[in-house]
Amino acid sequence: MTVDKGVLYVVATPIGNLTDITQRSIDVLAQVDLIAAEDTRHTMPLLRHLGVVTPLLAMHEHNEKALLERLIERLTAGQTVALVSDAGTPLISDPGYPLVRECQRRGIRVSPVPGACALIAALSVSGLATDHFRFEGFPLRTSSARQQQFRELVTESGTLVFYESSHRIRATLVDMARVFGAERHAVIARELTKLHETVISAQLGALSQIVESDANQQKGEFVLLVAGYRRNPDEVSPEALRVLDLLREELPLKQAAVLAARITGEKRNRLYQLALQRNQV
Ligand code: SAM
Repeated sequence: MTVDKGVLYVVATPIGNLTDITQRSIDVLAQVDLIAAEDTRHTMPLLRHLGVVTPLLAMHEHNEKALLERLIERLTAGQTVALVSDAGTPLISDPGYPLVRECQRRGIRVSPVPGACALIAALSVSGLATDHFRFEGFPLRTSSARQQQFRELVTESGTLVFYESSHRIRATLVDMARVFGAERHAVIARELTKLHETVISAQLGALSQIVESDANQQKGEFVLLVAGYRRNPDEVSPEALRVLDLLREELPLKQAAVLAARITGEKRNRLYQLALQRNQV
């Protein structure tokens, strides 16, 4: 293939195994005038491996806005630019969004050169539902913020997909088990396409223990996938419980149960019994 002039190519690179690069990615990287890379130290070995000698420009989160005008000028002048990140698909929890958006705004063509992406690779082997999923990127950093983030996802019916680093994998699994419940099914996809590739499928409580007790399982890069919420017909919905608890703060027990049933469509008696039980705890 030959590249077109004045186009920004968004090029995926491998997430581990360097042979996971497509022929079209190699052709584009070899032919463009400039490669804007998240970290040139990361991209250099790949280019060396491919025998590509195209000039590199470092474009990371902190200088992205400053470099934007320069890149736009070059594209407008008819030069061709490839955007790559350290691994996988740019813009997916990686830099590049302001550049792509600005190109779109100015009528500069942006063309994808697809390839590896950790979230899609993990989803495809997880054994969890793939017809409906929600990608959340990295969970928030502090435990309380993370738990609040998870609480907002408790009744999401699609498979939940997160990225996580080795620094927080243990704490994140503990918070997941706490909020989604130790019985919720989940999958850890670690070091995909690399030497220590591991995919473990189990309930969150068990997964947390496996990782806690095996230092090897705490190393590397992770995608965490949590099965979507499936309501057990005998179980009161988390939303009804939330409404019930809120009303209980202001109203007598019976009145709270009646109102919560009217708001959520749950059975009044079931909510009343539950409110009684929760009152006794
Ligand atoms: N843009 C990349 C993509 O398309 O997947 C993701 C970049 S994000 C900064 C890096 C995170 O992706 C890692 O912390 C990890 O959660 C996930 N990741 C990347 N490579 C992986 C791999 N080989 N196995 C498992 N997870 C990986």
